[in-house]
Amino acid sequence: MPKNSLHREVVIIGSGPAGLTAAIYAARADMCPLVIEGPQPGGQLTITTEVENYPGFAEGIQGPELMDQFRKQAERFGTEFLTEWIETVDLSERPFKVETDGHVVVAETLIIASGASAKWLGIPGEAPAPEGLGGMGVSACATCDGFFFKGKKIVVVGGGDTAMEEATFLTRYASRVTVVHRRDHLRASKIMQDKALKNEKIDFVWNTEVTEILGAPETGVTGIKIHNTQTGEESIFECEGVFIAIGHQPNTGLFKDTLEMDEIGYLKTAGRSMATNVPGVFACGDAQDSFYRQAITAAGTGCMAAIDAERFLDNLPVPVASGEEITMDGEVVSADHESITMPDGEVISNKPEGEAAPAGGD
Ligand code: NAP
Repeated sequence: MPKNSLHREVVIIGSGPAGLTAAIYAARADMCPLVIEGPQPGGQLTITTEVENYPGFAEGIQGPELMDQFRKQAERFGTEFLTEWIETVDLSERPFKVETDGHVVVAETLIIASGASAKWLGIPGEAPAPEGLGGMGVSACATCDGFFFKGKKIVVVGGGDTAMEEATFLTRYASRVTVVHRRDHLRASKIMQDKALKNEKIDFVWNTEVTEILGAPETGVTGIKIHNTQTGEESIFECEGVFIAIGHQPNTGLFKDTLEMDEIGYLKTAGRSMATNVPGVFACGDAQDSFYRQAITAAGTGCMAAIDAERFLDNLPVPVASGEEITMDGEVVSADHESITMPDGEVISNKPEGEAAPAGGD
């Protein structure tokens, strides 16, 4: 059966804080955005409980309720939603083509806000409640949940920068933080290691894998089962919270042959804008940010991506990674803003009329 076709000025992939903020801005700019979302809309906040650090909610708000508000706000200004799996994305020419299981969506601009997923160990006790103790002492985000662990004994699993950062941050609250790492040395950068190794509230358990998280809904987490990879010894380590910090995987596999990304898969953007290496394609939120990864920063970059798309569609210059600015028509403004290379290769001055031409020009 032939697929239905849709043509939109702005198509947004993903409906977390980044995607929905981009939608709110694009919809209010009359660009009638279409948000394509998978079967679990709303992003990572829909699997958290209390959100206490999103500005504007003095008493805190539940993650799913916050995302519901984002969505209603985007809908109020005319955002449309398509809840379907994306099968392919063709960025070889503009307009771009996004094919889902039911539609071919033609997009003049594309905003990628497909997010990232925390990696999990896949062990008993780790799943979100009620199956496991997720949200009841098990977390993958110290910034989000550290506050709930005041005076408690916490374990952080992992040996990379994220684990060192989470462990260091958690010492603000915890009585003791124990990093459990599967090898005898850390993957983290020297500076991050040094901070954690010198912190008197942090200790390390080496060559050790966590095989189960123990506890019950009434008590929360009470400990972890651990396995020493050198001696084979199994034991129980008592703690009241477990932070899994073994990395994140950005949801960017669809773009691996077309968009520039780092070795993990985070999309590269221009620095001063959310432009990717393909003109007209913008990326925001956790799909491009390995560093801050907060709902508020995702929302901020979603706003930036929508403004960039709006400028692009208005044929105004948008900054790209080289420091140059490009327009939809293919004009390139030099990084020093002195000249414009036209689509036919002609170079003209970017100075207002009446001012001197750039050095070396006519
Ligand atoms: P990462 O560098 O990939 O480190 C993941 C850590 O988790 C490794 O130590 C790894 O162990 C361990 N691990 C992975 N799978 C595991 C499993 N199944 N069981 C037990 N342990 C497991 O990830 P990341 O720490 O999230 O860092 C990702 C990127 O973001 C890096 O480029 C990092 O520099 C950057 N980052 C920077 C900062 C900062 O500078 N402030 C903060 C956070 C992240 P092995 O070592 O044995 O492989």
